[in-house]
Amino acid sequence: MSTGNSAGKQSPSRVGAALCVQIFSGFLLLVLQALCLPAAQAEPSVSEQLDRIERRGNFQAQDSVQELGVLQSRLAPGSREQLHLLCLKGSLLARLREEDQLSTLLAQLADWPDAASKPQANLVSHLLKARRLAMLGQLEPAKKEMAGLAAYTPPSTPLPLLINAYQLLGRLQSDTGQIELALASLHMALKLAESSGSNWRRANTQIDLADAYVQAMQFERAEQTVAEALKDVERDPDPTLLYAVHTMRGIVYAELGRIQLAGQAKQEALRVARQSELPDRIALALANYADFHLKQGNYPEALKHAEESLPLARKEKDLSTESVALANMGLAKIALKRTAEGKRDVLASTEIELKRGALSGAALGFHELGTYLEKAGDLAGSVEAYHQHRKLIDQVLREETLKAVLEAQANYDDERRDKELQLLNRDMSLKNEQLLARNLQLKLWAALAGCVVLFGVLMVLAYQRIRKTNESLAHSNAALRKQSERDPLTGLSNRRHFQAAIKRLADQGKLSGTVFLIDIDHFKRINDVHGHAAGDTVLVDIAKRLRATLREDDLVVRWGGEEFLIVVETTDPNYANVLAQRLLDQIGEQPVTHGALHIAITASIGFATFPVAPHGLALSWERAIDLVDTVMYMAKAHGRNKAYGIESIEASDEATLLALAGRMEAAWHEGSVQLRALSGPVCPAIACEAAVPA
Ligand code: GH3
Ligand code: MG
Ligand code: MG
Repeated sequence: MSTGNSAGKQSPSRVGAALCVQIFSGFLLLVLQALCLPAAQAEPSVSEQLDRIERRGNFQAQDSVQELGVLQSRLAPGSREQLHLLCLKGSLLARLREEDQLSTLLAQLADWPDAASKPQANLVSHLLKARRLAMLGQLEPAKKEMAGLAAYTPPSTPLPLLINAYQLLGRLQSDTGQIELALASLHMALKLAESSGSNWRRANTQIDLADAYVQAMQFERAEQTVAEALKDVERDPDPTLLYAVHTMRGIVYAELGRIQLAGQAKQEALRVARQSELPDRIALALANYADFHLKQGNYPEALKHAEESLPLARKEKDLSTESVALANMGLAKIALKRTAEGKRDVLASTEIELKRGALSGAALGFHELGTYLEKAGDLAGSVEAYHQHRKLIDQVLREETLKAVLEAQANYDDERRDKELQLLNRDMSLKNEQLLARNLQLKLWAALAGCVVLFGVLMVLAYQRIRKTNESLAHSNAALRKQSERDPLTGLSNRRHFQAAIKRLADQGKLSGTVFLIDIDHFKRINDVHGHAAGDTVLVDIAKRLRATLREDDLVVRWGGEEFLIVVETTDPNYANVLAQRLLDQIGEQPVTHGALHIAITASIGFATFPVAPHGLALSWERAIDLVDTVMYMAKAHGRNKAYGIESIEASDEATLLALAGRMEAAWHEGSVQLRALSGPVCPAIACEAAVPA
C-alpha cells in the first residue's frame, strides 16, 4: 500500500503541499541568506513574502510562525493580506497542534473588524477548523466544515485562499471515498491555480488531482497529470514540490506496473525527504518505499523500511502514514510466512483507515490482504478479505459513485471536445465570410454585366460550397464523438460508450441479458517482467480475440486496466456457458506474441444471466456487474484460468440476494447459490515456458 496524499495532514496538498513542506537544509540556507541580505535587493512585497512562506510549508514551522508574527504587526487589521497571513499561520498552528494559539487566532477571525471581508474571514475560520479536525483523524466532520465553500468566488475571495480550500476539500472527499466530488473540487482548484498564474500552485494542485485519478482508477490520466506537474516542478524546482511530485510518480508508475520507474521515483522522494530531515516526510517516504520492495518481492527490505517508518509516523501522530506502514509491514510478514502476525498488522491498518473514515484506504488494504493471504495459502482468509474489499469498494467506486465518475469524466471530455469544436466552428465561419465576400463580388459583377443566369449559377455554387462545409463539420463532429467513446489502446468501447449503450439493454433500469467480466490473470507480472509495452500488446491482442469471438452487436468494453466487460443480449444460460468456455479458450489457447516473446495468458471470468433464476429477479446494471464481479473474484481465488457463472440464487428480492452475495462462497456450499465452474485450456508447454515466472 502506498499513499501520496492525506487530508489527515494540515497542508493544502498533503505531499507537496504548500503548507506541508519538505525543504532541503541547503535550500533553507539559501532562503535564510536571502532574508539576511542587506538592502542590496529591493524588499519583497508582503504578498511575495506570504507566497514564499506558504510555499515553504511546515518546514521549520515554528520559524514560519514567528516570521508571520513579525509581518502581522506591519499589516493593517482587516486587510486582505492579513487574512492570507492568518490562514497560513493558523494552518501551521494546527500542524504544530498549538491549540491555545490556534484558538486565539480563531477568536481574532470571529471578531474580524472589516465588514466587507467578514465572510472571507469566516471561510478562513472554517478552513482552519477543518484542518484541525483532519489532523485528529476526523475526516467527515472536517468535510462538513467546508460545506459552504461554493458560495465563495474570486475576486472578493483571494485566489490563494480559494485554492487552499478546494484542495483541502478535494483531499477530504477523496480520502472518504467521494471520488467524483473530489475530482470536481480538484479541477476547480486547478482552474483557480491556473488563473492565479502561479506555476508552483498549479503543480501542487495537479499532484493532488493525479492522486484523485489514481483513486478513480484512471491511471493513464493520473500519469498525464503528474507528468505535467513534473514539467512545472523541473522549471522551478524546490524540495517541497520535488518530494511531492516524485511521491506521486512513484504511486502512478506502480499502478501502471512500471516498477523500475516507480522504484526510482520513490527512492528520489526518500532522498529528498531524508535531506529535509522532516520526520513525517521521511516516515511517509519510507512507508512508500516499503511498498516498492513488496512489489519487487523483496520482503525483508520491505519489512525493514516499514518498521523504520512506523515509530516515526506514530511519534508524529500521522495516522495516514502509520496505516500505510502497518499495512506494508503486515504484508511483508505474511510473505515471510509470519501469517498470523502479518494479518494482525494489516487489520490494524484497515481499522485506522475505517476509524478515520478513509474508505478507499481501507478498501485497498483488504484487497492487498486478500492477495497476500491467497499466496500464503489461507484461502478462507483471502476470500473473507476480498468480501470486505467488495463491501467497501461498493461504497467507494461502484453504483452511483461510478456513474458520477463517468459523468464527471464525460463532462471533462465534453469540455475538451467543445474547445475542438469551437476551433472547427471558427474555421467554418471564416469560410462563410470568405464565401459571402466572394458572393458579393459575383453579385456586383453579375449586375454589371446584366447576366442574371450566371449570377444564378454562382449562387448555386456558393450554396453547394456552404453545404459541403457544413457536411464536413458534421463529419468532424461525428468523428470526434466516436473517438471519445473508444478506448485509444484497444479500440474497444470505453465506459462512456457503455453508459449510453447499456440503456438499450436495461429496460427501465433493469438489465436483461448476460454479463461477463474478464480480468487477465497476473497481469502486473507481465508488465513487471516484460515491460509495459508487452502489457499493452497483450491488451490489444486479447481485445481482438474477444471481438472476434463475439457478434457485432454484442457490447465489448474495456472496463478497467486489464478488465473487459461483455454484455450480450442472450438470456439462454446454456448459450452463456458455451460463450464463457469459448472466451476462456480464445484467451488461453495461444500465447500472445510480442516481438520474439510468446507470452502465455489466462484470465478469470465471472458471468451471469439476468434476470436471475429461479425467481426471475431483475437487477439494475450496476448491481448486475457487482454480482458478476463477486463470482469473478471466486474464479480468481479458486486458482484462476476459470470461469464462474451464476446459475441460480435462492432470492426473490434484492435484499436477500445481496445478503447471499456478501457470503457467496458459503452460500454456494450450502446450496442456496448454484454456480457453474468452467476451466480454461491447460497451458501448452511452449507457452508455459515463456510465461512469466510466479
Ligand atoms: P490478478 O490475477 O489478481 O488479477 O492479478 P493482476 O496482476 O492482474 O492484478 P491487478 O488487477 O491488480 O493488476 C492490473 C494491472 O494492470 C495494474 C496496472 O499496472 C496494469 N495496467 C493497467 N492499465 C494498463 C495499460 O493500459 N497497459 C499496461 N501495460 N498495464 C496496465
Ligand atoms: Mg484487475
Ligand atoms: Mg488481473
